[in-house]
Amino acid sequence: MVRLVVGLAMTLVAAVVAGHRLWWLFRLLRSGEPDPDRTRDVGRRIATQFTEVLGQRKLLKWSVPGLAHAFTFWGFIVLLLTIIEAYGALFVRDFAIPGIGHWPVVGFLEDLFAAAVLAAIVVFTVIRVRQSPRQRGRWSRFYKSHTGMAWVVLLMIFNVVWTLLLYRGAQVNTGVFPYKSGAFFSYAAAAVLHPLGTGVNEVLETVGILLQLATILGFGVIVVYSKHLHIALAPPNVLTSRRPDALGPLLPMMSGGRPLDFEQADPDTDVFGRGKIEDFTWKGMLDFATCTECGRCQSQCPAWNTDKPLSPKLVITDLRDHLFAKAPYLLAPEDRRDALPESVRAEAERPLVGGADVNGVIDPDVLWSCTNCGACVEQCPVDIEHIDHIDDMRRYQVLIESSFPSEAGTMLKNLENKGNPWGMNASARLDWAEDLPFEVRVVDGAIPDDVEYLFWVGCAGALEDRARKTTRAVAELLHTAGVSFAVLGPGETCTGDPARRLGNEFLYQMLAQQNVETLNEVGAKKIVATCPHCFNTIAREYPQLGGNYETIHHTQLLARLVDEGRLKPVQRVEEKVTYHDPCFLGRHNKVYTPPRDLLGNVPGLTSQEMHRCRERGFCCGAGGARMWMEETIGKRVNTERIEEALALDPDTVSTACPYCLVMLGDAIKAKQSEGAAREGVEVVDVSSLLLRSLQEPAPE
Ligand code: SF4
Ligand code: SF4
Repeated sequence: MVRLVVGLAMTLVAAVVAGHRLWWLFRLLRSGEPDPDRTRDVGRRIATQFTEVLGQRKLLKWSVPGLAHAFTFWGFIVLLLTIIEAYGALFVRDFAIPGIGHWPVVGFLEDLFAAAVLAAIVVFTVIRVRQSPRQRGRWSRFYKSHTGMAWVVLLMIFNVVWTLLLYRGAQVNTGVFPYKSGAFFSYAAAAVLHPLGTGVNEVLETVGILLQLATILGFGVIVVYSKHLHIALAPPNVLTSRRPDALGPLLPMMSGGRPLDFEQADPDTDVFGRGKIEDFTWKGMLDFATCTECGRCQSQCPAWNTDKPLSPKLVITDLRDHLFAKAPYLLAPEDRRDALPESVRAEAERPLVGGADVNGVIDPDVLWSCTNCGACVEQCPVDIEHIDHIDDMRRYQVLIESSFPSEAGTMLKNLENKGNPWGMNASARLDWAEDLPFEVRVVDGAIPDDVEYLFWVGCAGALEDRARKTTRAVAELLHTAGVSFAVLGPGETCTGDPARRLGNEFLYQMLAQQNVETLNEVGAKKIVATCPHCFNTIAREYPQLGGNYETIHHTQLLARLVDEGRLKPVQRVEEKVTYHDPCFLGRHNKVYTPPRDLLGNVPGLTSQEMHRCRERGFCCGAGGARMWMEETIGKRVNTERIEEALALDPDTVSTACPYCLVMLGDAIKAKQSEGAAREGVEVVDVSSLLLRSLQEPAPE
């Protein structure tokens, strides 16, 4: 009877305390902007719970910590059975779960996972000690995480296991344990407790059950009041996240749950990007509250790894801390806000983006350091959408505050006036084709029926000297393979990617709409692009504006042509090469294999991977419009990347993006002028290597 009363009383108290917090959290999230898309397509979303939450897909990519986390997670799922048993034992001493409660296999699984959780605690402890921020400073992925609370939680998990063994061992000795065999760990505990005698074991049985419930209930309360909130929030956050992930296209600017229409928009009532914490949608707020502070994102971030102040983890946790601190203000009726404590009103007045002088939540240097490379989004085990949040804050800064790195202003002006970031005349867009041994067709009116591909050359491909070589190589390869193609020439303008990634959605819309109109007018169906940024924008973002085309990256098309035997690489290219994954080709669009296949098909070429490759490829530093900004803080990202490449002592660094070509090319030149790199090491597009390996066409 005592057992029942105490157990139920504890449960009631914990339910009230935790429920109060969850209700507060629910109201807080409800105060965010609407986001109706997140609750559509429920069937597919539920299916992802099996791979992402139950399957622990992303966590398992990090083998040791991933396995430890997976065992803890699955352990707690299995141990739900023991919680049912503990509650049942409050009412009936020899309670067994109806149907399965006496199966030895259930007892075995319960004990197996109890042991697995104990092993996982040991692994977590080792990881936390080895990754201690005290020893590793900013290079620890737990830098500025709430490590104290993480230790408390590890202790709580340990308490869950030992109290479980205590009451189950005692139950064996008092004869009320439901499993006659299988529960090996409980029987081992029973053997230890047996010498104490039946009377003591009866007491331990009750004490153990109450301690077990107290630990679990206390754990539940700690979870909802700490950063371990992710245990409760990760499933709904994954359920409502962008599918398949938050990479590739940026979302349109949203206000009131609808895409913002610039012609109709009212700056007084519409939300332009995110200028205040309450401008974020409820899903953004859920992201902030879900962060586990694991630091996986931070460990992969090129900005953080080159000593810049941007850590994607700290962006999310700073936004969360500000949201929670401002919550009393957001949840109070407007006419009572003046009566709130001074600290709350001060928090409410903090600018979302601003330097230390104005106590901003996010420092401008943090905001503008992001290359949109997607490493954070790729790694985050709970599907937080960092890039969307960063670029939404940029949108407000650019469109409402006109506040952005001044040097990027030239690029915006050039886009506005000349349709390309370099400010060159449109007539120069065909210069790359001069002296080619064949005529490049330029679309004039509708694309002729015999043209298979519209070759989207892109601003860099048309106007930047090094990128022009790629354009010429691709044109020559297509010509050799007998693929009929045409270009828009002066009819092409920038896709708008740099403007959009900088936050100037208005300019992006202008450029993008103009291109979509042109493409629709000429009847474009199949497009090939050499620039992954153009590729991403046309393939993944133009559908938002009614532009739907079958778009392919040149490496995909060339790999197919080699496969089909239409391109035959036969000349040996005796070089050692390493391939750099462009972020907007790899992570954002999952094109990892075709460029590698192309290299693999070139005879004589030996290829070696850099340590950070494919999903973990390290950015060149140009994305997110960083190409157009000064890099004055920390080490240059392109230097960091080229050092990694040079460590392999390659003859050639290959890539598949004009931005990467320029960034890595600049970095290697700098290294060569310092004498830190061999003369002759070059950065080229994979298409140039493929071209070198083709037999000279027979004279006609
Ligand atoms: S997108 Fe890349 S640069 Fe930006 S925060 Fe994420 S990892 Fe860092
Ligand atoms: S944002 Fe994601 S990856 Fe980064 S610390 Fe939080 S949970 Fe970990």
